[in-house]
Amino acid sequence: DPRLEGIASAIRVVPNFPKPGIMFKDITTLLLDPNAFKNTIDLFVERYSGKGIDAVAGVEARGFIFGPPIALAIGAKFIPLRKPRKLPGEVISEKYILEYGSDCLEMHIGAVQPGEHALVVDDLVATGGTLCAAINLLERAGAQVVECACVIELPELKGRQKLNGKPLYVLIESH
Ligand code: IMP
Repeated sequence: DPRLEGIASAIRVVPNFPKPGIMFKDITTLLLDPNAFKNTIDLFVERYSGKGIDAVAGVEARGFIFGPPIALAIGAKFIPLRKPRKLPGEVISEKYILEYGSDCLEMHIGAVQPGEHALVVDDLVATGGTLCAAINLLERAGAQVVECACVIELPELKGRQKLNGKPLYVLIESH
């Protein structure tokens, strides 16, 4: 798709952030380019509209940027998956392992109904731990996770293999 080149070139790489040796993929520059940002959302909307998706679940924080416009355009609800102690209601939690230490995602009980079809959205998949936790939360609530969608994949980290067989769709592979 000719739109992908403009999207890829609007993503900035910041060396040594948040620590030495990391090449951080920064999507804030994509947001500054209305044409590239719109094309990003459009590509996901074209893939998912009319597919019977009931819920788009976005991972804090950058899944909150890409998830809602997709949800609105395909007529699905948006579910925020948040870091611990941010959601005010009753939650279920899912811990996951990071390179150093662990983290946790939470979802409101009742956000999704058993049998509903859900799409998980984030900006980037690295090791896949974050998406795996998101999938587990939705499945524990009885939802059916149809696919995970990210703007960027770091394929060397093999995150795709951590998703319990769930399909992963990405726009850009970054090597
Ligand atoms: P994973 O759990 O190892 O797949 O890491 C993915 C999570 O870390 C996502 O929520 C990303 O937003 C974040 N992340 C990791 N590396 C980057 C990066 O280079 N740019 C932006 N976000 C990143």
